Amino acid sequence: MIRKLYPGGKKKVFNVTFDDGVLQDVRFVNLLNKYNLKGTFNLNFGLMESEYEWTHKNGSVVKRLSKDKAVPLYQGHEVASHTLTHPYMDNLSEAEILYELQTDKDKLERLFGRTIKGFAVPFHYYSELIENCVKKCGFTYARISEESRSFTPQKDCFKWKATLFHPHGSFDDIIQRFIKTDEELALLQVGGHSYDLDVENMWDIFESLFIKISSQNDILPMTTIEIVEYLQAMDKAEITENRVKNNSDISLWFLIDGLAREVKPKETVIL
Ligand SMILES: [Zn+2]
Repeated sequence: MIRKLYPGGKKKVFNVTFDDGVLQDVRFVNLLNKYNLKGTFNLNFGLMESEYEWTHKNGSVVKRLSKDKAVPLYQGHEVASHTLTHPYMDNLSEAEILYELQTDKDKLERLFGRTIKGFAVPFHYYSELIENCVKKCGFTYARISEESRSFTPQKDCFKWKATLFHPHGSFDDIIQRFIKTDEELALLQVGGHSYDLDVENMWDIFESLFIKISSQNDILPMTTIEIVEYLQAMDKAEITENRVKNNSDISLWFLIDGLAREVKPKETVIL
């Protein structure tokens, strides 16, 4: 009996994917770091020095982080593109979409000194044209604005859905179900904006979610790109009743006869 596992022999993965790179990300990233969790942060390079801010009726100021604050803050987390200027893309031409995507990717890569492989769609509009542009710009995945409402990892990396965008109540129900589930390669991914935690007074709700996640030994924190690349490598594996062949360049993990086992790149394990 062979069952697919995540790195380190873990059964489940947790991730947050948060958009816009706002001031409240400082508090949010510190909270993730406190519990050794990992996030994906989707940034608009063209708005990072923007002076624009708005004040919510409860007093929360919403403003973009500056470049010099963003670079050290997101160390250890994934930075992904969210377009250069966060436009409504439904009335943009192909050339305009390509410019928004490619320029953001290039400038974020130069600023952060790393390859930017992920993309998150601004607002809710997504189309075949945008998807083709995402592929042309060399992104590995595109996270769209719909929820999967399931723990099953997405099959289509270019229509990637988070499990849910943060609820307007507690996470108790979903976290209980996630802790109980025995689904193979289960994933809980929460999307959102950190300013909503101010506006909707949700900091304690998120902290109690993080406490519960980090207290579970079988849940591994990963960034979205780490999850996507791991699942792509897993898809290439050949698994039969008595043999596992890892065709990828990274280690894969399986539960084989009740034991978690690492299968090295290009390794074949005969049972
Ligand atoms: Zn956004």
